[in-house]
Amino acid sequence: MDLRIQNLCKTYANGVRALENVSLTIRTGMYGLLGPNGAGKSTLMRTLATLQDADSGSVQLGDLNVLQQKQEVRQMLGYLPQEFGVYPRTSAREMLDHIAILKGITNRRERRELVDAMLERVNLFQHRKKAISGFSGGMKQRFGIAQALLGTPRLVIVDEPTAGLDPGERNRFYNLLSEIGENVIVILSTHIVQDVKELCTNMAIINLGKVMYSGPPGDAEVELRGKVWQKSISKQDLESYRSQYQVISTKLVGGAPLIHILSDTNPNNGFTSVDPDLEDVFFSRVQQVA
Ligand code: ADP
Repeated sequence: MDLRIQNLCKTYANGVRALENVSLTIRTGMYGLLGPNGAGKSTLMRTLATLQDADSGSVQLGDLNVLQQKQEVRQMLGYLPQEFGVYPRTSAREMLDHIAILKGITNRRERRELVDAMLERVNLFQHRKKAISGFSGGMKQRFGIAQALLGTPRLVIVDEPTAGLDPGERNRFYNLLSEIGENVIVILSTHIVQDVKELCTNMAIINLGKVMYSGPPGDAEVELRGKVWQKSISKQDLESYRSQYQVISTKLVGGAPLIHILSDTNPNNGFTSVDPDLEDVFFSRVQQVA
């Protein structure tokens, strides 16, 4: 089953064009939607999750028209929003039970089995009786995935799932996500390049509401091969390098800026060639309209 997004547009009442002719085809597996803050990722995710309307364009999930057949889509959908509210004193198990009812699982025994199996799967069974409000960031995200996966969805959308997780929690969350993608479309929206690098076979980069790239992460790197150069410089020279070269990224290594620039030919001047990685792809694409 494919998710086909065609010419999707959305302008908010304040005039911000959050989506401009977005067209993407997303197949089964893990799909990364990468973009800086404000790129339009959440707008797209909420539209796909039937929570908000687009101005124009179409979205097709298999035979379903997502923008119109909302109820049908919701039955196939698992959604983990950027932030989700929980009732303060409700336990993880009670909350999942409640969500399972909303997803149409009416048989009590079946529901209990399903909920407990899901708690096991996300490694929260031992915490099932605790209030979710007391969970750590990582536990909350794993609970979020549990609620999104209840009722075997065909389309799973997770919006900025690793923001605020420590490295250990992030790893556990990665492992959990990568188990899901086999028969399901999983869309992972993030501004963290590493999330996409580690998990996704296909991806899109969006910025200012536009698709800047779509395809496998590796293909985008190949396109940049031979064009990325690096040099360690001193801080006070940064501005002059910026005016002279197309600087795509700057990071501090041992306190000194290491810059990556884009150039079709050897810039000399102490620059050395580097193998482009996804981060270079991301920054070079994002700067095209910035
Ligand atoms: P991202 O998830 O990539 O950070 P968003 O979809 O949240 O991006 O936002 C895209 C743009 O639309 C931003 O400029 C944001 O300020 C704007 N925006 C988002 N929601 C609203 C809204 N409800 N009203 C007005 N502008 C909005």
